[in-house]
Amino acid sequence: MFVSDKVKNLPAYVFSEFQQKKKELEAKGVNVIDLGIGAPDLPTPDFLYRKLMEEAKYPHNHKYSTYSGSLEFREAVANFYQRQYNVSLEPEKEVLTLIGTKEGIANLLQAVINPGDKVLVPDPGYPVYRTGVHLAGGESISFPLDEKNGYVPMFEKVKIADAKQAKLMFLNYPSNPTTATIELNTFGKAVSYAKKYSIAVASDLAYDLVTFDGYHAPSVLEVPGAKDYAVEFGSLSKSFNMAGWRIGYVVGNQEIIRALATLKSNIDTSQFLAIQKAAAAALQSDLSTVAENNRIYQKRLEKLHAALNQIGIATDKPKGTFFLWAKVPDGFTSMEFANQLLQEAGIMVTPGTAFGQRGEGYIRIALTVTVERLEEVIRRLKLMKFE
Ligand SMILES: *Cc1c(COP(=O)(O)O)cnc(C)c1O
Repeated sequence: MFVSDKVKNLPAYVFSEFQQKKKELEAKGVNVIDLGIGAPDLPTPDFLYRKLMEEAKYPHNHKYSTYSGSLEFREAVANFYQRQYNVSLEPEKEVLTLIGTKEGIANLLQAVINPGDKVLVPDPGYPVYRTGVHLAGGESISFPLDEKNGYVPMFEKVKIADAKQAKLMFLNYPSNPTTATIELNTFGKAVSYAKKYSIAVASDLAYDLVTFDGYHAPSVLEVPGAKDYAVEFGSLSKSFNMAGWRIGYVVGNQEIIRALATLKSNIDTSQFLAIQKAAAAALQSDLSTVAENNRIYQKRLEKLHAALNQIGIATDKPKGTFFLWAKVPDGFTSMEFANQLLQEAGIMVTPGTAFGQRGEGYIRIALTVTVERLEEVIRRLKLMKFE
């Protein structure tokens, strides 16, 4: 009686269904290993925790932040972009503090699109793009991603009529769930396409620093002229294990940033100042804690990657994110295989279809448990038969 159609019509959240099944198994005494959740298991670096404790003591940090976030944090973001990408940003006009990227993405859609507007979203892709479009009354148009060409956008598969009507597109590299990484020319092509059809670009760079083997993830803003069309989201959740702190940012096109800032000033009053100060310290750090985390993820990745391929579950070796995107064995759907792993081996993964139709045939495995737990995963997998 009291629920809006918008909320009623939200798709069922696959993650919560699996969490329910996990609880049922645990109640029966099964030791479930959860490789389903996309959140870091590692602790927030000590210097950030100490900075938060220090700043939390001061009464001035307990006042409202300015709506767009403290200038100190926005300057730290601008400095980070200069150092990391050689991109200059005006802290006051081209940087906005967010209460996490997820909040920013959902609100961006409210700020940019009108009911009925079309938005290009990757399939498979992070589910918030699609649900955010739904909540804003827009229409999602999938652009397919395929393993065969490294999951770069296949804009040629988008109908010209849809491209002409599209107002915004989402890009996400390093990608959740496919783990695909790109070089700058892929962003270059996307910006050219956006320019041709007057489409705004939203690049989700949540895994900007979670990379391996010397790979450096590019920013869309490195493409000359990109600021005319593009904004980019950054998060401290993954790179600094600050998922629960809820802090991120969006940078780039002034008109889009202003629209989002105006919308948000009617909804929230930015993040706790002590958190913004700690986050500024994180971005200004030498990133050695990030390198240390990446070494830990890489060890896990190499261990599980080798074992899966040996067992016959084909998996690419990613250069970014803390996931493996694995092919399910012949004869299974994603959902069937994920269910079998859970029921027979007590291993929880996410079926690829949670990320869109084209996720069929894959599962996403999060590397967010210790090497010892992964050894147990491998032991259990070796006992299974996949025919
Ligand atoms: C985790 C994740 C986010 C959300 O990050 P927050 O800043 O914690 O909201 C955004 N995009 C992708 C692709 C993610 O995996």
